[in-house]
Amino acid sequence: MFLHISVFRPLEEILIYRCPPELVKEVSVGKRVIVPLKTQRATGLIIKILDHKEKIKDLEDIKPIIKIIDPYPVMDESLISLCKWASEYYLFPLGMVFKIALSCLPPAKPPYYPARIHSLLETIRGENRQIGLDAPSLTEDQKKAVEIIKGALSRDTFSVYLLHGVTGSGKTEVYIQAVDACNRSGKGAIVLVPEIAITSQLIARFIKRFGEKVAVIHSGLTKGERLSEWLRIKEGKAHILIGVRSAVFTPMDNVGLIVVDEEHESAYKQEEGFKYNARDVAIMRARMINATVILGSATPSLETLHNVHTGKYKYISLPQRINKKPLPPIQIVDLRKRKTDSLLTPELQEAIKKRLCNKEQVLLFLNRRGFSRFILCDDCGYVPPCPNCSVSLVYHKKERKVCCHYCEYKADPPDICPVCRGQNLKALGTGTERIEEELKNLFPDAKILRMDKDTTSKRHAHHFILTSMEKKEAQILIGTQMVTKGLDLPEITLAGVLLADNMLYLPDFRSAERTFQLITQVAGRTGRKDKPGEVIVQTFNPDHYSIAHASRYEFDRFYQFEKAYRKGAGYPPFKRLIRILLKGNRAESVVAGSALFKQLLDKYMDRTKIEVAGPVPAPFHKLRGKHRWHFLLKSQSTRYMRNQLKQVLQAFHMEGIRGVEVEIDVDPLHIL
Ligand SMILES: [Zn+2]
Ligand SMILES: [Zn+2]
Repeated sequence: MFLHISVFRPLEEILIYRCPPELVKEVSVGKRVIVPLKTQRATGLIIKILDHKEKIKDLEDIKPIIKIIDPYPVMDESLISLCKWASEYYLFPLGMVFKIALSCLPPAKPPYYPARIHSLLETIRGENRQIGLDAPSLTEDQKKAVEIIKGALSRDTFSVYLLHGVTGSGKTEVYIQAVDACNRSGKGAIVLVPEIAITSQLIARFIKRFGEKVAVIHSGLTKGERLSEWLRIKEGKAHILIGVRSAVFTPMDNVGLIVVDEEHESAYKQEEGFKYNARDVAIMRARMINATVILGSATPSLETLHNVHTGKYKYISLPQRINKKPLPPIQIVDLRKRKTDSLLTPELQEAIKKRLCNKEQVLLFLNRRGFSRFILCDDCGYVPPCPNCSVSLVYHKKERKVCCHYCEYKADPPDICPVCRGQNLKALGTGTERIEEELKNLFPDAKILRMDKDTTSKRHAHHFILTSMEKKEAQILIGTQMVTKGLDLPEITLAGVLLADNMLYLPDFRSAERTFQLITQVAGRTGRKDKPGEVIVQTFNPDHYSIAHASRYEFDRFYQFEKAYRKGAGYPPFKRLIRILLKGNRAESVVAGSALFKQLLDKYMDRTKIEVAGPVPAPFHKLRGKHRWHFLLKSQSTRYMRNQLKQVLQAFHMEGIRGVEVEIDVDPLHIL
């Protein structure tokens, strides 16, 4: 018996192995095996059992597999097909896709001994024991949405719905009822969320309603915990899976519904290694098994809206907040007119004071952690750079270090300027740490919490910060992006965006869209329950279209404007992109590699159909010690580009320039 095995290594080919007679009984597609590979052993997945009739070359050279790891298949045919598609689409080796898809499983030590369910899940489960709570009554819009989705579920055909609901319109309840309907028809449901830590409220609501039927998978769990949740799904004990992007590859039989919450979130895109977008993989998975997809968002991505307009996706709208609560008014504060350089402007201070007097809560968002943005020598203008990356170092006061936010580099802050020996070093620009300090001085009686990468490195730190806000132990929460998503705290009545421009001037064509989304999301955190909310957005560019439209909740007008820009400039969704990044330790090799790559692109690609920009140094031309150059390919379809790019990559690897890695990013979200 011969087997097609995809080995979990960066290989292009699928390998053939022999199955020794004593293992024949155990063999089936979807089980992992240990095989010899050159002089080593490697893990792989059985993806096909070959027919007797199939011709096999060099029979004598085929080696036998060493052992079969799994007692039962860990992937079914449809998931294997999905991984094959993802490998083709994202130009990433198939074996590595399987490896990532099966990362919940221990490498090779059956039988499995699942650990106890982990403490956070246990806490959430403990806090939400009254399962089977009655569903709250729905608004007319929610009812309509649920009916439409129930209809789709009953048809058992592939369909995608964009659930476009303003913040606070009750999208989660629509998901819950759709999942319920799906379960009742005997099928499983997968709910993808951008980040688990900040969506613990959503998980709690699901657990309240469905109890033990819910399994949760994310990277914050220990290996044992993840495995035990994985097994509960695999063994059919849990019918609802909530998870972050990698959960899209979890084996669950008979999936009828996939929900992608906050579909526009960049967290769905894996930026390292296998650069897949879990939203898009989810849609493909649903398509292969005739399932229904709900893409939920208050600020859908342009790609998704485009698919609605071309008729690929259907549109459901929740245009109003529950109980017709108004969206909180957004006030713009023009930072060009401020008198000091603090980001706590008098307008904002006044508003905070008012909320504290009323015993309400405040949420402040700043897109930069640390104390100051950089240190500057006032005499000669020197700014200490990261030795490994083309960025300046950020000062962290509490730690008394200057740190790089892209690599692990840390150093003591300089006492004197290494260039001019001057002593006038200034910490300029503001990060969350400085705001926290300023707030403490201004409001000494208030309890202030900070949520950013520095304060949440410990496990479950997010959960504790949010619980503390929920219990009203703290009054002010300051944080980075983490605070903008999914938070549902009734006492937050003031939300402040301290510096809206931070995101605007990144050299990236999505920066206006991201700014619009962030402002809308932050604003959405306030006035969700009985108390009306207000929002303050501070900016140096009050007239920029993304800020101006966001401040008036003019989604359609922003969208029209942005669409025209994307169309004119030939960016997605009107053209598709593939980014090719070359990187290496030596600048000369990267430059030489880029030149060779360019030659090959010219040779193999039909330039009448594919536009090629580059090679140029990437905006971050050095990162973690590697020099980086990139190309951007543009065309109407990715299929054509991918096919031609495959040839280019093969030719490039044949020529082999030492010390240059090539990374391919199909449908890139960031081009930095
Ligand atoms: Zn100096
Ligand atoms: Zn660095």
